[in-house]
Amino acid sequence: MTDTDQRARRTGSLEVKDLVKDFRVRSGMRSSKFRAVDHVSFTLEPGKTVALVGESGSGKSTVARMIAKLEKPTSGEILLDGEPSAARGVALMRYRNDVQMVFQDPFASLNPFHTVGHHLERPIKIHHRASGRDAVEAEIERLLERVNLNPPREMADRRPHELSGGQRQRVASARALAPGARFLIADEPVSMLDVSIRLGLLNMFARLQREENLGVLYITHDLATARHFSDEILVMYRGQVVERGPSDRVILDPQHAYTKTLLAAAPNPENHGKLREEVRAELARENA
Ligand code: ADP
Ligand code: MG
Repeated sequence: MTDTDQRARRTGSLEVKDLVKDFRVRSGMRSSKFRAVDHVSFTLEPGKTVALVGESGSGKSTVARMIAKLEKPTSGEILLDGEPSAARGVALMRYRNDVQMVFQDPFASLNPFHTVGHHLERPIKIHHRASGRDAVEAEIERLLERVNLNPPREMADRRPHELSGGQRQRVASARALAPGARFLIADEPVSMLDVSIRLGLLNMFARLQREENLGVLYITHDLATARHFSDEILVMYRGQVVERGPSDRVILDPQHAYTKTLLAAAPNPENHGKLREEVRAELARENA
């Protein structure tokens, strides 16, 4: 890779163009087509967060799974640094380095038989981030420190059942960072966690995003945190993006009827001020 390529790589974007996903659904003898994602387009830029909001079943996870290459689009394109992302081989491997996913369920995402250290060692070795036992161990500790799992050496020896849900999501985040990810797809990363620890985790994502200049897709049904933690909000309804814009604009001046309904169903926007206070308090704790 030349210097110019490297520079382009660091400033390049992840672009989703006209993504469509049809599922075949069977009922009895009949099979029909169901469009879960309907011509969705957006761009993730380094250092920016895009929130994808919408009620359950609107197609958010299907978008995430297509970006993570766990699901094949029916049509449409995913472009990384302007190039169509490859389906196989070395190019797919490179894509997987760059685009990482954090899932909703912290209990399902880690292997119960492996230590935390083992979970991180694999991507570090596969993606050649470090070699030799000492260097790999140092890298594991560095990653655990980045996600505030302290003391790192002790945490590395733990198994998933010895961790809380929040700590597991921190491990999952460290694992996502291990290959040197540039884009993070976080599918409702805190919705299964205790309310009391959600902000701490979201603040951690925000810090990592700043420090690593990550482009983040934050999938959530929580409008308050979507507003607080993202630059742009896309509102998804029945597979389509029905509204998009700068976060404050979408929340304070919604245009689409569905966005208005979502906002009406959400906790009082007065709480947004309160959220800001809580985030500040959490940040102080996180950085203490
Ligand atoms: P969300 O994450 O917004 O809750 P999903 O993307 O999980 O929504 O699902 C969108 C729609 O697609 C839902 O109606 C869901 O039942 C359907 N769906 C998701 N995966 C499959 C699948 N593998 N086969 C058939 N239908 C699916
Ligand atoms: Mg989902």
